[in-house]
Amino acid sequence: MIYIKSKEEIALMKKAGQITKGALQKAIEAVKPGIKTIELDKIAESFIRKCNAIPSFYRYNGFPMHICVSVNDEVVHGIPGNYVIQEGDIVSIDCGACYKGYHGDCADTAFAGTVSEDAKKLVDATRESFFLGMKQAVAGNRVGDISAAIQTFIEGNGYSIVRDLEGHGIGANLHEGPSVPNFGTPGKGPKLMPGMTIAVEPMVNLGKYNVYLDARNDWTFKTLDRSLSAHYENTILITDGEPVILTTL
Ligand code: MG
Ligand code: MG
Repeated sequence: MIYIKSKEEIALMKKAGQITKGALQKAIEAVKPGIKTIELDKIAESFIRKCNAIPSFYRYNGFPMHICVSVNDEVVHGIPGNYVIQEGDIVSIDCGACYKGYHGDCADTAFAGTVSEDAKKLVDATRESFFLGMKQAVAGNRVGDISAAIQTFIEGNGYSIVRDLEGHGIGANLHEGPSVPNFGTPGKGPKLMPGMTIAVEPMVNLGKYNVYLDARNDWTFKTLDRSLSAHYENTILITDGEPVILTTL
């Protein structure tokens, strides 16, 4: 189901987005060699609760923690725990917060100490693909225009875009319509309308696009070829003009 949000709903989503981005930023800034991923979870959780919001991911479909922390070949849905971050790791953090019934959702990938040139370029390309996708998120365009912009840029740079996971509508539900794949055909898919709020989230692999679900926890997706993977996400609002990022400080 696709929902067009009212002015009041959009105001709440802005607040939720601000809290979500704040929590993400705190966790991203804390990434360094020697810190455990569960400590990043605590940092984000306490920030969200201090803002009188609720961590959206906690117990969502049974997810046990408050944020997702996905290291190196982990694509998304890494579960914070006792893993100690190592020099050279790339650390994707995905954060969601619910404020007065409305959700924000955003993700970014941080570096622990000095990382490889390959890793830096991968993360830069992932972030850039989001902004190219967002440029297409204007009223009258279709979801496929966003998808194609991301795919064209990523594949043009020699990376691959994950196909088994995608962006989504967001609002009173963490996940709602429409699906926002990161690959597709321009002019295809649902039409974008002012008041729609979507999470655009390219997941990009250094190697092939294939991923698998880690059977040890039934949550974490990893690259099949064990190559590095990066993630970048924001919740955005479709307007009469330019799209607006809601997950911003
Ligand atoms: Mg997310
Ligand atoms: Mg999302």
